Amino acid sequence: MSHPADRTFDAIVLGAGPAGLNAALALGGATRRVLLLDGGPPRNARAEEAHGVFTRDGIVPVQLKAIGLRDLGRYDVTVLDTPAREIRAIGDDFHVRHEHTWSVAPRLLFATGVQDILPRIPGLRERWGHTVHHCPYCDGWPNRDAPLGILGRHQEGHHLALTVRAWTDHVVLFTDGPDELSDEQWEDLRRVGVPVVDTPILRVSGRDTVTLHFRGGDRHTLDALFLNPAQRQNSLLPELLGCEMNDKGRVVVNEHGMTSVRGVWAAGDMTGAPQYVMSAASTGLIAGISLNTTLIHAAVRNLGAAFTKSDDEAGDTQPVNVQ
Ligand SMILES: Cc1cc2nc3c(=O)[nH]c(=O)nc-3n(C[C@H](O)[C@H](O)[C@H](O)COP(=O)(O)OP(=O)(O)OC[C@H]3O[C@@H](n4cnc5c(N)ncnc54)[C@H](O)[C@@H]3O)c2cc1C
Repeated sequence: MSHPADRTFDAIVLGAGPAGLNAALALGGATRRVLLLDGGPPRNARAEEAHGVFTRDGIVPVQLKAIGLRDLGRYDVTVLDTPAREIRAIGDDFHVRHEHTWSVAPRLLFATGVQDILPRIPGLRERWGHTVHHCPYCDGWPNRDAPLGILGRHQEGHHLALTVRAWTDHVVLFTDGPDELSDEQWEDLRRVGVPVVDTPILRVSGRDTVTLHFRGGDRHTLDALFLNPAQRQNSLLPELLGCEMNDKGRVVVNEHGMTSVRGVWAAGDMTGAPQYVMSAASTGLIAGISLNTTLIHAAVRNLGAAFTKSDDEAGDTQPVNVQ
């Protein structure tokens, strides 16, 4: 080994969003010595409120994270405000570099989330989480009955427009160029009273409303705009470590959150789990428990016991996609 390990843990959790915080909570509560690397704000940090969060509906996302961190305080969980930079698998352990330190553990749990890639329309990114949203279950209620726009083409625009239409009678689909809609999709939109505007959008402005500025000089002001952005992984580390990825760029896991690499789990948005706070927290819990179970089995096996459900068998579990 070319570098001395500075600290040793039972598990290292990467990412302190809902998935990583809940995984660390499960592991801490299981008397494990855990390192939680916090690489920065969670995905919804720009949102004013989080909805669909059991017992905390409408909570400010940074407050939710603060509560999650506070709850870890009673356990042997070390939280560091630093991302993982590099990982090496050496023997049965994983060596994780953060800043200039290497930490070591026999188990890793990725909860590093995804990034949203917004269309390159000037003004859109600045309004993300304020008047530009992606999820009606997260931001539909505050905008119910309001004039809303959908930005999208093809199946995605069609699907999001029909969905958001359930929150308000006033929906317009903006395709920013060729709509790429089928005749059936046009007919669906006509049935529910959603007009389609295909004029290219030059920019977006507005403070508490959102105004679309079109080529040719027209404008359209809405209370909010919904779109379905492309995404990519926040961290390349799972792929570099050899975790199998699916064709959507998500880490492939089985129902326990195990990746294709033995000793490595993943949870939350990065796995293709439904992208909500509660789903991320739930998959974090499940992955944390699964990880802990393999530590228990390994420890008992070291005492000479013969487990039928051994760590090895767990590692052989065929990964399936959580979609
Ligand atoms: C604008 C917006 C509003 C939303 N509103 C809602 C809502 O109202 N209700 C709801 O249920 N859901 C909402 N969501 C979805 C919700 O935010 C996500 O589903 C949830 O945050 C996913 O949790 P996660 O733990 O998987 O990932 P994240 O919350 O993205 O957390 C991942 C963490 O990993 C860290 N990280 C990345 N790389 C590294 C590294 N190398 N080392 C260490 N850490 C690293 C990141 O900095 C981040 O802190 C919203 C999303 C957006 C974008």
